Amino acid sequence: MDLYEYQAKDLFARYGVPVLPGTVATTADEARAAAEELGTTVVVKAQVKTGGRGKAGGVKLAKTPDETRARAEDILGLDIKGHTVHKVLITPASDIAEEYYFSFLLDRANRNFLAMASVEGGMDIEEVAATKPEALAKVAIDPIAGVDLAKAREIVAAAKFPAEVAEQVADVIVKLWETFVREDATLVEVNPLVRDPQGKILALDGKVTLDDNASFRHADHAELVDVAAENPLEAEAKAKGLNYVKLEGQVGIIGNGAGLVMSTLDVVAYAGEEFGGVKPANFLDIGGGASAEVMANGLHIILNDADVRSVFVNVFGGITACDQVAKGIVQALEILGDDATKPLVVRLDGNNVDEGRRILAEANHPLVTLVDTMDGAARKAAELAAAN
Ligand code: GDP
Ligand code: MN
Repeated sequence: MDLYEYQAKDLFARYGVPVLPGTVATTADEARAAAEELGTTVVVKAQVKTGGRGKAGGVKLAKTPDETRARAEDILGLDIKGHTVHKVLITPASDIAEEYYFSFLLDRANRNFLAMASVEGGMDIEEVAATKPEALAKVAIDPIAGVDLAKAREIVAAAKFPAEVAEQVADVIVKLWETFVREDATLVEVNPLVRDPQGKILALDGKVTLDDNASFRHADHAELVDVAAENPLEAEAKAKGLNYVKLEGQVGIIGNGAGLVMSTLDVVAYAGEEFGGVKPANFLDIGGGASAEVMANGLHIILNDADVRSVFVNVFGGITACDQVAKGIVQALEILGDDATKPLVVRLDGNNVDEGRRILAEANHPLVTLVDTMDGAARKAAELAAAN
């Protein structure tokens, strides 16, 4: 899960990383009031989960409450790289003497953690990395040893931070490492980390990605989820413990087990080429025990996806045998009643397949087509999606 800047800076503050106070506003009037409260020149910052807000016009200085109101009006509703701005952060404007860059990240390629630091921070670290790689220090972090003050000083030296801020930056780096480890983050990035004219170091921006696989040990992270910005079907699926991912195509996919679902996506996309480029509309893994209720939940989500024209249910009976799955599908269609409106292609195989097929054949539901093979079923689902 990616955090908004204001959430990232809230976390930083908890670990003692120096940040400026801020107020989140969702309307121009709230923004004005926040500026009045702060009583100083402010920065109005778009809160979207993407970088490059400054360049896109999403970060503006405002000297007065009225000016803050006007800038918030400009920025709220702005589209930044496909993200609509619904919130702005109002924060005191800091004078900047120098802008630096710092991050900790999970370095998947090297199976390690990595610190990156540069005294040429500000807008575009990717450009620094591409055109002036020597200006971006990369220091591998031993995950067992972590980052103590000595390691932080090594990073500071590698990036050639000016001597007068070296100790302060090292201290901030240790605190950012604490944030990274204790919160189970895969990314903590500060760009810019600034030195103000008085020589104080401040994190003016913050980007944090939390590892969702560790959410079980962070009950407080649930509050950080922006429910309004989530896809409502993905939220419903998550609440029901289903793995659902929205895709761009027209065929709804339900399967049991991630491997089967992923290969189903491939065969549907392949079969769909024959029908004008029909593609999977989503990915839904109902997992091992496909009870009637789980199947009904899954079908409910898939059928509510407006893009879905047909549904492909691809189940391999294992611990839960095909007859149970078939009963699940029949009962799910009963539960859904008139909510079930789109054609379903079902392919069953594995444990007790004959009985499963018999149950579906006997139910003879008008929306259901039984196909014996995975390729044949994919083709049928694509054909139905193209015809609907
Ligand atoms: P990003 O473009 O999405 O990374 O947003 P940032 O928060 O990094 O802001 C972009 C740029 O705006 C920064 O590099 C700064 O130059 C400038 N900026 C942000 N906050 C302040 C501030 O408080 N004072 C001043 N003077 N400039 C700021
Ligand atoms: Mn930034």
